[in-house]
Amino acid sequence: MTVRVRLAPSPTGTLHIGTARTALFNWLFAKKEGGTFLLRIEDTDIERSKKEYIKNIYDGLQWLGINWDESPTIQSERVNEHKQIIKTLIDKGFAYKCYASEAELNEMRETQKRNGLAPKYDNRHRNLSPEKESEFIKAGREPVIRFKINDQKLISWNDLVRGKMTWSGKDLGGDMVIARRAQSDSIGDPLYNLVVVADDSAMKISHVIRGEDHLANTAKQILLYEALDLKIPVFAHTPLILNSDGKKLSKRDGVTSISEFKKMGYTSEAMANYMTLLGWSVPEGINEKFKISEISEVFSFKKVNKASAKFDWDKLNWLNSQVIHEMSAETLLKNLDPLLKKNGWFIPSKQWGIHLVSLLGPSMVLINDGVDQAKPFFEEPELCDDGKKQLEIKEAAVIFKFILKKLESSDAASFSKEEALDLINQATKNCEVKKGLVMKSLRAALFGTLNGPDLIQSWILLSRFSKDRARISRFI
Ligand code: GLU
Repeated sequence: MTVRVRLAPSPTGTLHIGTARTALFNWLFAKKEGGTFLLRIEDTDIERSKKEYIKNIYDGLQWLGINWDESPTIQSERVNEHKQIIKTLIDKGFAYKCYASEAELNEMRETQKRNGLAPKYDNRHRNLSPEKESEFIKAGREPVIRFKINDQKLISWNDLVRGKMTWSGKDLGGDMVIARRAQSDSIGDPLYNLVVVADDSAMKISHVIRGEDHLANTAKQILLYEALDLKIPVFAHTPLILNSDGKKLSKRDGVTSISEFKKMGYTSEAMANYMTLLGWSVPEGINEKFKISEISEVFSFKKVNKASAKFDWDKLNWLNSQVIHEMSAETLLKNLDPLLKKNGWFIPSKQWGIHLVSLLGPSMVLINDGVDQAKPFFEEPELCDDGKKQLEIKEAAVIFKFILKKLESSDAASFSKEEALDLINQATKNCEVKKGLVMKSLRAALFGTLNGPDLIQSWILLSRFSKDRARISRFI
């Protein structure tokens, strides 16, 4: 079978992590099978769909390394085809016009609830008499189009993730609306289940891979495929992504869109890696840290779990730190430099920048950590309490006077590691203090704190701006 899969995002928001994970599974499967991965923008909700969201979706997928094979299908451009299909369904007796008003439908649901029944359309207009219909038309009622659902029907499919699935027609909510209200002589806007079947069929989609929140839709869509005598694709329903409370990951959990993760300083490689692990178990002998381009060979739905996947920040952070630690200094600098510039911090030379990221990289979990850590190299740091205490020690001023005097007679721009070390040793000897005291005092004066990356390296970087002298001289 020629594998053709698709991602069908609705551009009513930014690229959500759940949609991106669905994209990944589709993409990995297409790669594994030598198939085609397609995009379809489901923009039929005209009010909520926005161009900026389409761009956000394209950008997010590209950032993650998920490329698509043909130009995207724009669903709204196919509305005439969709309406034609609805007409066919009406002509063949599979669909009909339902004139029930919203008030009547609400009343129907209230009565069902009062009687302890699940709310469901009671198919009241399925066999409307021509007289009754013309009465409604005369009264100016606008009908929806409903597709008949047989309550007795059992709908089954072999799901690539969940195995044999069976749904009963009676659990599908009664005859389904496939087009919105419109004047009785026209067809209103076609709705989700209808357009998905029409488009998946037109795009020759072989496998529909999407979240398990679409299980009931799949049952409805199979009925449409059957009525239209179209080839039914294979289905795979991927598990949901839950937050740490076991609830569906949503806006309330803070970040959910790919662009937000990017903004926080996650790398595309770690994100794609982590999202693949959300619901897929790596086959034995394969490392959990991988590039998606390498893993497609071993991807299969056999290892996709039925159970929901819990979002684990620690694991994502660990993967991100690993990716950062393995990055070349050049790449890390390329990632960090734009963020530094945004703060108005300009690296004096590429070599200096490489030196900076080599120093900071090992303790970075997010790219953005580099911004906080680089700050004291560009802006005068605040003194933390420990730093303050350290600088109150009476020897500190003596040490600084000695160091400053020596610094004034040297060329700050070419300050070497050996020279820095030598200076510290001289100060230790001359001021008759412990080396640790010199180091701690220097760090406090230069960076305001007692913790941080290698002091000598940091000092050398700072000396490139000659900022070290000004900072030390504040405490003599
Ligand atoms: N537009 C639908 C969604 O974003 C597509 C679902 C499907 O893949 O059929 O949920």
